[in-house]
Amino acid sequence: MTETNPAAARPDSAKTKVFLEEADIPTHWYNIVADLPTPPAPHLHPGTKEPMSAEDMTAIFPLQLIEQEMSTDRWIEIPEAVQEIYRLWRPSPLHRARRLEQALGTTARIYYKYEGESPVGSHKTNSAVPQAYFNKLAGKTRLTTETGAGQWGAALAFATQVFGLTCEIFQVRNTYENKPYRSLLMRTFGAQVQPSPSMNTEVGRQLNERFPGTTGSLGMAISEAVELAVADPEASYALGSVLNHVALHQTVIGQEAIRQFAGFGESMPDHLFACAGGGSNLAGIAFPFLRENLEGRASVDVVACEPAAAPSLTQGEFRYDFGDASGMTPLLKMYTLGNDFVPDPVHAGGLRYHGMAPLVSHCYHEGLLRAVAVKQREAFEAGVLFARAEGIVPASESTHAIAGALRQARQAAEDGTSPVILIGVSGSGQLDLPAYAEFLSGDMLDT
Ligand SMILES: *Cc1c(COP(=O)(O)O)cnc(C)c1O
Repeated sequence: MTETNPAAARPDSAKTKVFLEEADIPTHWYNIVADLPTPPAPHLHPGTKEPMSAEDMTAIFPLQLIEQEMSTDRWIEIPEAVQEIYRLWRPSPLHRARRLEQALGTTARIYYKYEGESPVGSHKTNSAVPQAYFNKLAGKTRLTTETGAGQWGAALAFATQVFGLTCEIFQVRNTYENKPYRSLLMRTFGAQVQPSPSMNTEVGRQLNERFPGTTGSLGMAISEAVELAVADPEASYALGSVLNHVALHQTVIGQEAIRQFAGFGESMPDHLFACAGGGSNLAGIAFPFLRENLEGRASVDVVACEPAAAPSLTQGEFRYDFGDASGMTPLLKMYTLGNDFVPDPVHAGGLRYHGMAPLVSHCYHEGLLRAVAVKQREAFEAGVLFARAEGIVPASESTHAIAGALRQARQAAEDGTSPVILIGVSGSGQLDLPAYAEFLSGDMLDT
């Protein structure tokens, strides 16, 4: 007897989500440097101001990550040990936001790629896992890092535990005190967590003296983590965003999305929105699409959605600056608000960074993508609408991408056009519910 499967009979365009098989997880990371029309500026040594050599970076990073940082190869193979861990949650689904479209009354077709199903609820694990792996391979036993909202700290805590490394995390004091759940998550995975600036590093003591009662910043926490890593040859520092190798690791997102679009019977999105703090999830979803643009197969309008409280692309200067507060990291050519900029303590802790990834900055400078700034009330309003329509509470950071997309979708309704919009939803907001509560009560400051 033959049975007909009504789902299989539905056209692609009627689908609500497209999964890929495990075998479809990308086997290589995509390095956009190979395809850029002009080469990005090199990182400079903080002392000599000369281009960094690989050797200069060995004090804080293992060689294979340094090679990735400097690579001009288009494809970099993902080791099987990393793919094995990726299989715990990848491929991530691509959804058609049908109910959101209805709620908006828009003629746009809206899709979203959701990274919130990873072990810690964000895209950060895509880079935490390879970073822990390459450090293990290099014989390191200990990783130090910073974290803002705690998404990166939780991701690295998970990844170090997978490969048997210890993990020490400096969390920005504002979120450490106001959002205890992520530090509990980090501790559950076995990491040590302390608020930054702390009194346990030289630079932390100096920062506490210079800025008494400071709520902390990512730049300060980075300085503390780097200090510990430099002092111990068995330790490395790990950064959750900004650097080229982090952007590289995230490109599994966009590569999957391109294949999933085909599963919907769509070719390419007209617009792509992602939130941008340090730039890694934006790079991850957008760079594979920018490759399609650069090779003439598409013309996707890529839009970085940054918080109005830390508007590095829309208000910053494109120049060399340090990645941290005290000038210990390499000098990076990027859009920056200045490395002593301390953003208002907005809820999207992961977006409170003074600079923007050099590769994202370069693409922006070259006109390959554009940027908008979003205030947090507009962001959370979009987040609530999205949650009520789609049943997923997006991370505070991700709500900025949704807000950017909603502006476009509403414009389409006015213009009577039907663009295809893709949103990168970088994480889950289950641990951001106090921020949602503040928004719903009307108390949220509109910064
Ligand atoms: C860390 C984080 C961000 C911001 O970092 P990017 O490097 O800009 O991606 C955005 N969304 C979520 C969920 C995060 O955890």
